[in-house]
Amino acid sequence: MLTIVFFALSGLDVLDALDVVDKPSLIEWIYSLQVLPTDDKSNLSRCGFRGSSHIGVPYNSSKGPGAPHTYDSGHVAMTYTGLACLVILGDDLSRVCREACLAGLRALQLEDGSFYAVPEGSENDMRFVYCAACICFMLDDWSGMDRQRAIDYIRRSTSYDSGIGQGAGLESHGGSTFCAVASLCMMGNLQEVFSERELKRIRRWCILRQQNGFHGRPNKPVDTCYSFWVGATLELLDVFQYTNFEKNRSYILSTQDRLVGGFAKWPDSHPDPLHTYFGICGLSLMGEAELQKVHPALNISVRAFESLRRLHEAWRQKST
Ligand SMILES: [Zn+2]
Repeated sequence: MLTIVFFALSGLDVLDALDVVDKPSLIEWIYSLQVLPTDDKSNLSRCGFRGSSHIGVPYNSSKGPGAPHTYDSGHVAMTYTGLACLVILGDDLSRVCREACLAGLRALQLEDGSFYAVPEGSENDMRFVYCAACICFMLDDWSGMDRQRAIDYIRRSTSYDSGIGQGAGLESHGGSTFCAVASLCMMGNLQEVFSERELKRIRRWCILRQQNGFHGRPNKPVDTCYSFWVGATLELLDVFQYTNFEKNRSYILSTQDRLVGGFAKWPDSHPDPLHTYFGICGLSLMGEAELQKVHPALNISVRAFESLRRLHEAWRQKST
């Protein structure tokens, strides 16, 4: 599935070890997961990337057209991670049907500004707002969403304690706070949406999440992945340097499995791809030697981020 491939690929990239993968065949595989517009374009609102080949649509890694299938549609997290994987692999995104991806994305946004994951409807919350922001940012085109509505949704999700929840009235959470702050950073208007006083309170809420590592909510146990979610939020808010790196680092390292090498959420528990990736990212944020720097908002290596910016520059020159 694409999200797990993203954890693996981006993790290898941050470890500066991407040479172990067969880039051309992975790029072909990712493109084969693109839900392409059909000849009559009747499926535009269903376009994006699917997570795997499970429903058996014909293999097609070219630019189209797609084959009609009643149950075929993109998933916002797969479109986000699919595009991110292509960027990490150094692809120029020339086979991405940008218009179709953006049309598919627009179809997922609700009245309240949040996003569904799939066109049939699903949970709708801050996670998918973040995925949508990443897609628009990577495609360098914000016509994929009503930005003002998304901003209103983020504002309404700010809780009484100044952390940000998955939606209005929900408990503040380190993951949704990251999704909200990173989305606003990618939109380029964090400072306009929150006043300096509000930003200070968000910083305070985040900084209080450090125990030795970080937890996602008050009174919860620390968990490796929050070293990234909360750490990256603090980095975006320019105060990560005031946290205790030594304690954070030794917590993350205490969750590494000595036999298979991956990271788990807690010491002495099973490692998994998500926590392995975010453990690496958490270490990278602190400038761990021999790790590539990770971009705190888009959550890919700074090197991949720079190549994306060069791509955007080339697109802009082409269109003028
Ligand atoms: Zn976790």
